[in-house]
Amino acid sequence: MKNFILFGPPGAGKGTQAKTISKTYGLVHLSTGDMLREAKDDPMFAPYMSAGKLVPDNVIVEMVVKRLKKPDCSEGFLLDGFPRTLSQAQELDKFLTKENKKVSAVFCILTENEEIVKRLSGRRVCPACGGSFNIDSMPPKKEGICDLCGANLIQRKDDNPDTIRERLSVYDKQTKVLIDYYEKQGILAKIDGMLTPEKVFEQISDYVKKM
Ligand code: AMP
Repeated sequence: MKNFILFGPPGAGKGTQAKTISKTYGLVHLSTGDMLREAKDDPMFAPYMSAGKLVPDNVIVEMVVKRLKKPDCSEGFLLDGFPRTLSQAQELDKFLTKENKKVSAVFCILTENEEIVKRLSGRRVCPACGGSFNIDSMPPKKEGICDLCGANLIQRKDDNPDTIRERLSVYDKQTKVLIDYYEKQGILAKIDGMLTPEKVFEQISDYVKKM
């Protein structure tokens, strides 16, 4: 069974890789950011998200555990954006142990901060189909229009310079510790995230082949 975690700072390319990984290995893609955004402007989440802060652990753990209990996750899953704190990782392990499961690999996508700021400020997303573009590196064919479904592209509320800075600092202070946590478990795969999406995926699939 393949139970994967995609790990890395915001803007590392987790969403792009998640699409390829889940398709290639037939895994359910669980992005906590997407799950929270689907809840639209729920007063419980919105203030944290627009400030670039983390939603409280108990709220997010409950949401993920509930989702992981669904039958479609029994053949494997790909977590994207979760866990983001030590407590979330410990709660996930507790739940999986109870279910007789475990995390098989954590793909840690490493990128430089300067590149992240560039990627996030240029990111444009499609609210209709989830397509993601970048005005510098991957512009849509027609400005402001999704290549995949023709809807108008938007800029995420949290992709502005102040919030990007806050999200990076949250990653450094609360999330980065997990590299050590999973390295100690021997399941961390360090991936160079500065390369093209194809090359990034190649590193992931090479690791999976060797598992
Ligand atoms: P993302 O789409 O992964 O960049 O997440 C967007 C925002 O959703 C984050 O900045 C947080 O406010 C919230 N969020 C997503 N995943 C988590 C998580 N595992 N724990 C706490 N907050 C989260």
